[in-house]
Amino acid sequence: MKNIYAIGVGLIGGSLAIDIKKNNPDVIIHGISRKDSTLNKALELKLIDKKATLDDIENADLVIVSIPVDATVKLLPTILDKISDTGLVVDAGSTKEDICKVVENHPKRRNFLAMHPIAGTEHSGPTAAIEGLFRGKTNIVCEVEKTTFKLQEKALKLFTDIGMRIRYMNPVDHDKHIAYVSHLSHISAFMLGKTVIDKEQNERDIFDMAGSGFASTVRLAKSSPEMWTPIFKQNKTNVIETLDEYINNLSHFKELMKDDNFEAIFDEMKNTNHIKDILNGII
Ligand code: NAP
Repeated sequence: MKNIYAIGVGLIGGSLAIDIKKNNPDVIIHGISRKDSTLNKALELKLIDKKATLDDIENADLVIVSIPVDATVKLLPTILDKISDTGLVVDAGSTKEDICKVVENHPKRRNFLAMHPIAGTEHSGPTAAIEGLFRGKTNIVCEVEKTTFKLQEKALKLFTDIGMRIRYMNPVDHDKHIAYVSHLSHISAFMLGKTVIDKEQNERDIFDMAGSGFASTVRLAKSSPEMWTPIFKQNKTNVIETLDEYINNLSHFKELMKDDNFEAIFDEMKNTNHIKDILNGII
């Protein structure tokens, strides 16, 4: 692979560009973004070698699409229209069903690989890009059988070389499971942050009293609404289901409190301590 085009040069696109360039110093990373200021920043930070436009991607060996998922759904058919017969397009979107659906009948479907690298931070834009973000992390690949075998092989090598474990899943299951472990956590952090901000108008008091427990629980509330709104929109049904279950658990906890049933509250927390063992296996 010689010419790699990164459409979106923020946290994910920029971090992928850093790691791929480090492993393959001869590749040229071409950056594409909406705003010229974003591309200039990416150039300044050496995330990309050159600025490019969508018209250039006929020269691409690989196109990496890392933009908000609504923009991906809109742009992906056009990108596939432009890609050469031997070029590969991958996307890094956090939802997979709508993205796979929009290209299911595209004549170049076999040049596309749908994936979701399960790695990130609460920061966004080119300045958020970091080296080694994907090391030891999982990359969920969907509908691998729909991609030309040779292109699958190239992509999988590129991503295992930067330290990722590959897991395969269908897009419907991906969106259902990711709603629990990622989307619900973000909503929970956003609403915890809102609850505290609404009540504690004096930010100085929050600053003085908030410990590391609050900071780590609410960390995801710093995430970009521009990226998260389209995720919730595309995964609405699954996210509502997770919210119903979460709200039931919160209501149950509140009832136990009202009933002074602290024995049951102890048991709820004791049973949930098991999360320690689960997390030890994955992080
Ligand atoms: P980000 O840091 O906010 O970067 C997004 C990039 O997309 C920016 O370069 C932005 O550039 C560009 N962009 C925004 N709207 C665009 C549009 N309509 N057309 C073209 N470019 C556009 O976001 P990110 O965290 O890298 O997320 C990128 C993708 O990866 C998303 O699909 C997200 O679901 C997925 N993902 C995110 C995480 C995570 O933890 N953040 C993890 C895994 C996967 P401009 O400044 O030029 O608009």
